[in-house]
Order: sequence, then C-alpha cells, then structure tokens
Amino acid sequence: MAHHRGVSFLIILQKKTVRCCLTICRCIAVLFVLFLLLVQNSEAQEARSVQKYFSGTNQEVTVYTIKGETSGPTVLIFAGIHGDERACPVVAAKYSNIRLKKGNIVVVPRLNAVAIQKKKRNGLGGDMNRLFDQPETSKNPDVKVVNLAKELIKKADYVVNMHQGHGFYSPTWINSKRNPSRWGQSNVVDAPYFDLPNGDKLELEKFANKVVQRSNENITDRRFHFQVNNTNTGSEDSRHKVQRKSLTYYAVTKEHKHAIAIEVTKNCTFAQATTYLVIALNAVINETGIVADKLP
Ligand SMILES: [Zn+2]
Repeated sequence: MAHHRGVSFLIILQKKTVRCCLTICRCIAVLFVLFLLLVQNSEAQEARSVQKYFSGTNQEVTVYTIKGETSGPTVLIFAGIHGDERACPVVAAKYSNIRLKKGNIVVVPRLNAVAIQKKKRNGLGGDMNRLFDQPETSKNPDVKVVNLAKELIKKADYVVNMHQGHGFYSPTWINSKRNPSRWGQSNVVDAPYFDLPNGDKLELEKFANKVVQRSNENITDRRFHFQVNNTNTGSEDSRHKVQRKSLTYYAVTKEHKHAIAIEVTKNCTFAQATTYLVIALNAVINETGIVADKLP
C-alpha cells in the first residue's frame, strides 16, 4: 500500500511538473509574440518619420520621410513652392503615408506655406523658385526655406518639383493656349543631359521621356497627354534663362540629381488636375524602380 501511495505521489508530481512546464512555455510564447509585435511596431515607426521646421511660424515646413523595407533610390517630392497651384499640395499629401517595399520617398507637400496661405504665387520673399541662386546668408526671408530644400536635395537621387501652369506646352505653335511658351501637361528638364565630373551623364531627357510614356499610357484623352519640355536652361540661346535660379536647375547643376518639374495644366477641373498629377508622380516613382505597397 505504501509503495502504491508512493507511485501515485510520483505521478501527481510528474503531472504538476508537466503543467508547470506548459505554463512556462505558454508564458514564453506570449512574451515572444509581444516582442515580435514591439519590433514590428518600431520598424513601422522607423519606416515613416515626420519632421517639422520653423514650427510655430507662418513658414512652417513639414517633411515626411518614408523608408522602404529594402534599400533603393530616394525620390524627393516638392509641392507648393508656388501658392496658387492648389492641386499640388493636395496630391503630394497623398504620398505622405504610403508604405514602400523598396526605396524611399521624401515628401514636402507645402514648401512655401506663406504663399499657399495667401493663395498667391509668391510668399514672403518673392518667387521662391527664383531664389535657388541666392547665397545661404541672403537676407531674403524665404532663403531659410530654400536652404532647407537644398539640404533635402543633397540626400535624394531624384527630385520632383510639382506645378500647375496655364495652357498646354507644345514644341510647335498650335494656338495661343497650346504653344512653346505654355507649361501645362509637360515634364520639364533643364537640359537633354548633364555631364557629371566622373565622366558619366545624367540622362535627364531620356528619363523624362520614359516618365511621359508611362503617364500617357494612363491618359485616354490625348489633349491632356504630357510632353517633355526641355528648357535648355544653361545654354546661351535658352529662352528660359530665368530658370537658372530654379530648384530643378540647382538640383541638377549643383547637386547632380535627376531633377524634373511636373507641370499640370490649370485649364481643367481640380479633379482632373489631381488625377494627372497622381499619374505623373506614379510614373516617376515606378520609373525609378521604387516599389510601393499601393500607390495613390
Ligand atoms: Zn509653379
């Protein structure tokens, strides 16, 4: 009987040990899952960061940085350098919370907050897209914002400046709305290509051509097809010498980046303008090899 009681005791002890082990295992499993969730969350937090500059002033600039799961090129998107091009900040904001599998996107939806607030082309210091030749120490009140843009350009591979312009760009004269002096529905580059110090070339026009092709595949109405608009900014006979003070010209010539301006026409509805801007931006992003979970 004593022997039998001993065996029972042993069995109970074993059962208790097994239960205890199971509990410990469960605890470890729960802790592990919690750990995984924490890591995932912190990765998600790292994937998107928001930075504000000149906070509390009317020149506040918010910069959204989205990092992909794997490395790739960085596309920097500026909108709102001119305050009377309403569709640009609205569309740029759509890209501020996307998720990327590959590559990075930096978005500045409202570069010229004062101009946007006033719904006017110019902010505090005149046309901000004519200030990129100014020294960093300039007294112009917008130059601190320009200096921030220059810092962001340094870290990018591709730079996009979004605009809305009157009429439709055409390399030949069609009519007063559609001719070489108009800007709408064009991808603007400052040169066909740019010679880099290491002997390579920045193939600006080739890149713009591919972006235009991709864009137009998604636009059924041919009147709204994009065209490449090469302003030959640096050349002696350029009709756009004033663009030497622009953001894209700075990005190409000083920082050697693939820079492009996207111009959507003002001669359409707001909804159409946003649609064309999204089509053009997505074309740029896809052409650079960035992979998004889902684009706007
Ligand atoms: Zn503009």
